[in-house]
Amino acid sequence: MSVFRIAIVGAGPAGYFAAQALQNLQSDDRKFEIDMIERLPTPWGLVRSGVAPDHPKIKTVSKVFEKIATTEGFQLFCNVELGKDVTVDELAASYDAVVIATGTSRGRKLAIPGEDLRGSLSAAEFVPWYNAHPDYVEVDVPLDTDTAVVIGAGNVAMDVARMLALEPKELDSTDTANHALEELHKSSIRTVHVFGRRGPEHAAFTSPELRELPKLEHTDVEIGECDIEDAFERASAEGELPKDVKSNLDAMMLIAKTPKQGHERSLNFHFLASPIEIRGKDRVEEVVFAINEVKEGKVVTTEDTYTVKTGLIISAIGYEADPIPGLPYDGGKVTNEEGHVANSNIYVVGWAKRGPSGVIGTNKSDAATVIEKLAANLDIPKSSEGISKILNERGLIHVSQSAWERINAAEVAKGEVVGKPRVKFVDRKEMLGL
Ligand code: NAP
Repeated sequence: MSVFRIAIVGAGPAGYFAAQALQNLQSDDRKFEIDMIERLPTPWGLVRSGVAPDHPKIKTVSKVFEKIATTEGFQLFCNVELGKDVTVDELAASYDAVVIATGTSRGRKLAIPGEDLRGSLSAAEFVPWYNAHPDYVEVDVPLDTDTAVVIGAGNVAMDVARMLALEPKELDSTDTANHALEELHKSSIRTVHVFGRRGPEHAAFTSPELRELPKLEHTDVEIGECDIEDAFERASAEGELPKDVKSNLDAMMLIAKTPKQGHERSLNFHFLASPIEIRGKDRVEEVVFAINEVKEGKVVTTEDTYTVKTGLIISAIGYEADPIPGLPYDGGKVTNEEGHVANSNIYVVGWAKRGPSGVIGTNKSDAATVIEKLAANLDIPKSSEGISKILNERGLIHVSQSAWERINAAEVAKGEVVGKPRVKFVDRKEMLGL
């Protein structure tokens, strides 16, 4: 029987689904020893530090991850950073194959004047801040303003806008980071504006997320009925409406038609507007938008502008990978040919491979395809002790699966006392001490 040793770098959804695909390919003739390596002291990637706290159902996929992790032949090495504690070349030499599943953690920039002012943030900072990511505890999120602006018409923009527009009491029973919950309770924000640069027919929101919005108990959600009627007209002029576009526009029309309750808090959607400048002396004071229009099916920017007063602007316009030394990058992702890094035993899955698109489940089929290719390219197993030997030689402490289970149990126990699913640790030392 051949036993191949595979390293998976990144303990998020794409990494776990890659491990599962390897486990599924095992037979009496072929086994895989899987070492999953993760920079943070905790696994689960975006399921822990990306998914919005008021979406606990999405996080139940972590049960699948734990089943994969407790299957024979799987070992977890958290608190080990590729490019710092161990190099790409070392892993490539020690393993039969290396799978990169490190995602895309940098927020794309708007590249407009004023973007660096205080009060201008990326969702790539705000989301991990409210999700207790240890690297983002100190992010400065000024909430002492009555109006917030969110740029982007995707699901991340929607998460960010909802988190700002919700009555914070609704988050008390969630796993929102304590430091963020405290600040959100003190927040002066009552009006949140979301801006898409194209029309509603081109919005990247998905309809289940849109359909949740009219159910918000303490926030009125506003979309202009005329905006949706115009979008239906434009989209229909191009032929039969694609199913997802129709479903989205129907969901937006439902929001537009839902009677408003006169709540103090509101979440407002605007379309065909591109931010062109952020202004302010020491911090954000206003954002200037160019009005766009659709001409012959194309979105064009006009000379007309308007200004929105705000003290907080969060851009949620996509992500790109933070490059790891020793890996080739292009266009914000690892350079690859259908998941294979040319002339190497290195493969890539998830957002690091295809860019920041798709929901958690998308990574399952995506990883399975790449892992099939990886398995087909394997020849004679290498004899190596993998990362354990390297870590021992360097005296580096990692968080194993059993250590992670202790952290997990301690977080859940802390949560039970206060009626939350968990209270996340944010301090690395505290986690390493368990
Ligand atoms: P996304 O879906 O690609 O949306 C990005 C948005 O940013 C688009 O509306 C895009 O507009 C806009 N944008 C890009 N550059 C811009 C610029 N310079 N100025 C103004 N707007 C700009 O990305 P995402 O929201 O980051 O989400 C990433 C993936 O995660 C998506 O597949 C999403 O569905 C998924 N996700 C799912 C959930 C969930 O299931 N609940 C939650 C969060 C994220 P254009 O279309 O005009 O480029």
